[in-house]
Order: sequence, then structure tokens, then C-alpha cells
Amino acid sequence: MFITFEGLDGSGSSTQARLLFEHFEKNKVPSIQTKEPTNDTPIGKLIREYLQHKHKTNAQALQLLFAADRENHLFQTILPAIESNKIVISDRYLHSSIAFGSHCEKDFSWLKNLYKDFIQPDLVFLLQVDPKTCIQRISERGEAFELFEKEETLTRIWKYYELLAQENDNIHVIDGHQSIEKIHAIITDTVS
Ligand code: ADP
Repeated sequence: MFITFEGLDGSGSSTQARLLFEHFEKNKVPSIQTKEPTNDTPIGKLIREYLQHKHKTNAQALQLLFAADRENHLFQTILPAIESNKIVISDRYLHSSIAFGSHCEKDFSWLKNLYKDFIQPDLVFLLQVDPKTCIQRISERGEAFELFEKEETLTRIWKYYELLAQENDNIHVIDGHQSIEKIHAIITDTVS
């Protein structure tokens, strides 16, 4: 089984991915927790540097780097784990690329097409949190703002997440303003 977590930055996706992984560990369910962009690969590192404004490129080149990172992540980590019957939990996957990378309908079609042959998660948990709250949570985290973390940008990204949720039955939208524990309970109920 392949489960992914999605949402705006600050929506709580990392928190919920970690809690679900801990839940599986506690219940001795074989599973792995992973994330995109990947942390420990040259492609993932390069993407983070672009997001932190250390280099400049155009939007399409950045999206193709995300695609390369994802293809490598599938080959190196996700598919081997699925083949050995582990549950894979990924904090972000292709729906992030499509939503974050769409500046207009044309981008949205291009990105959906780019990922049409990638494996689809069995379950996607999309945490809905309004952009103002996301920005507040990000600033409390005390990190420098990355490329995508401006309120109007987050509003645009959410519009494309909503379109994806309308088009895909495997996407479960959860109200991410609820407490961390309540959201975790909804997620474990859905998974079981
Ligand atoms: P993301 O991975 O989506 O960027 P995080 O899981 O890192 O988000 O959460 C961002 C911040 O918001 C963290 O400081 C986290 O503790 C906090 N947070 C996560 N979920 C909630 C929630 N349901 N209510 C309040 N704060 C939350």
C-alpha cells in the first residue's frame, strides 16, 4: 500500500506522516516513511537549493528536476518497499508537483500529463488549512520563507489541489484546522 500526505506548506503533512508511521511501528505493521523532495540524494539537494533561491532557472526546468527526483525515489525507495509488502508513507508526492507547479491551466495540463504514467498512491490525505494559518505556522517554525510560501501563492496552489481532489477518488480532503490528535484519528480510521 502506498499512502501520501499533501497540503500547503505548514498544513501539517509532515506531522501527520510521522504520526501514521509511528502508529504502524507501534502496531508492528511493516512500513517505511519517506518524503519528497528527497533529502539524501543529489537531485533532492539541488531542488532545495533552487527553492532557497541559491540558483535561478525557469519553472519548467525546476519541474523536470522534481520529476527526476520522483522517478529516482520510486526506483530507489518506494517500489522496492511496496514489492516487499511494506506500507509506504510519503510526505508529498506527485500531487504536490502538480498543485505547486501550476501557475495556469496550461501548466496544470502539462504537469498532469508529465505524471500520467507514474504509479498513483492508494490513499492521499490532503490537509486543508487556510493560507493565513499556514503562513503563521511557518513563521512560528522560524525558518526562512521558501519560494512557494507567500499567501497569494498558497491560495493559487490550493485552487489546483481542489481541482485534483475533484478529479481523483483516492484523495481524501481533511480539515487541517482540527487538533493534531483529531486529524491523526481520522487518518488511522480511514486507513484501517
Ligand atoms: P508541513 O509539513 O505541511 O509543512 P508541518 O507538519 O511541518 O507542516 O507543520 C507545520 C507547523 O504546524 C509545525 O510547527 C506543527 O507542529 C504545526 N501543526 C501541524 N499540525 C497542526 C495542527 N493540526 N494544529 C496546529 N498546529 C499544527
